[in-house]
Amino acid sequence: MKALVLEEKGRLSLREFDIPGTLGPRDVRIRTHTVGICGSDVHYYTHGKIGHFVVSEPMVLGHEASGTVIACGAEVSGLVPGDRVCMEPGIPDPTSRASKLGIYNVDPAVTFWATPPVHGCLAPEVIHPAAFTYKLPDAVSFAEGAMVEPFAIGMQAALRARIQPGDTAVVTGAGPIGMMVALAALAGGCARVIVADLAQPKLDIIAAYDGIETVNIRETPLPEAVAAATDGWGADVVFECSGAAPAILAMHRLARPGGAIVLVGMPVDPVPVDIVGLQAKELRVETVFRYANVYDRAIALMAAGKVDLKPLISASIPFADSIAGFDRAVEARDSDVKLQIVMPQ
Ligand SMILES: [Zn+2]
Repeated sequence: MKALVLEEKGRLSLREFDIPGTLGPRDVRIRTHTVGICGSDVHYYTHGKIGHFVVSEPMVLGHEASGTVIACGAEVSGLVPGDRVCMEPGIPDPTSRASKLGIYNVDPAVTFWATPPVHGCLAPEVIHPAAFTYKLPDAVSFAEGAMVEPFAIGMQAALRARIQPGDTAVVTGAGPIGMMVALAALAGGCARVIVADLAQPKLDIIAAYDGIETVNIRETPLPEAVAAATDGWGADVVFECSGAAPAILAMHRLARPGGAIVLVGMPVDPVPVDIVGLQAKELRVETVFRYANVYDRAIALMAAGKVDLKPLISASIPFADSIAGFDRAVEARDSDVKLQIVMPQ
């Protein structure tokens, strides 16, 4: 089976590669259909590491996937061969304290696709626990199924924000995750979401959705724009999705007194925070690391037509061209949101 293998920093190859593993009684074997390219995959390609996760031997990339069940372990119920599914890439230890608390995303024992030393899913077949494999309704395509993973981060952020109906939210950063957060915030009850970025092509893409307003911070300082949009009161919720130090230092200025800040973006290095600025408005600060218990909700919103992620899919690239697809992702064109790789079926 050919897989997309990151041999070492800066070197990808499409080659025969069998991901080790056997079908356990609670596992399913899945023929992979669509895999989204994530910023983390690209970062491993260009830098060979993220924080203390270092690629020290060849690793299969990819963690945003949909596919078709082709075999089920003896104890699997609820899934049968032929089912169209998407997969949650982080597998915790189900007996851990974190799992018992329902916060399995922060289980220290979690293994996550394409996070060294765990292989990802850019391979024709994968074995995965049935408990982390979700059936796709007929209304949700394979392409949309592969968008559930990044959208899950938006869902986690919206849930952490504890949005009230009619809230106004600000999203700083219009990368793929900022866009997912904005759409999850709308689905979660926000009346409007103001999305800010420097890149106009990305703002134009997200501005096509009802309920989204955009601010190009090259032209207008964001605190001014938010004050103008809220009669000087501020936003109920600020989702920080840029990870950029100046945005983090200024985020309290965007929130209303008693509002909430949700930290989604991940700065590469430690950044300063204006503690007094947060205290003076008694802002509630929440953090997000991946997600837990949101896949069902995300799929339900997509199946109900309340969230349409199709406009965020910029290109579908055949698996045979996936190295070129990764190089396009490295270029980081301002008009690309999500690139997806489609496996031969
Ligand atoms: Zn991802």
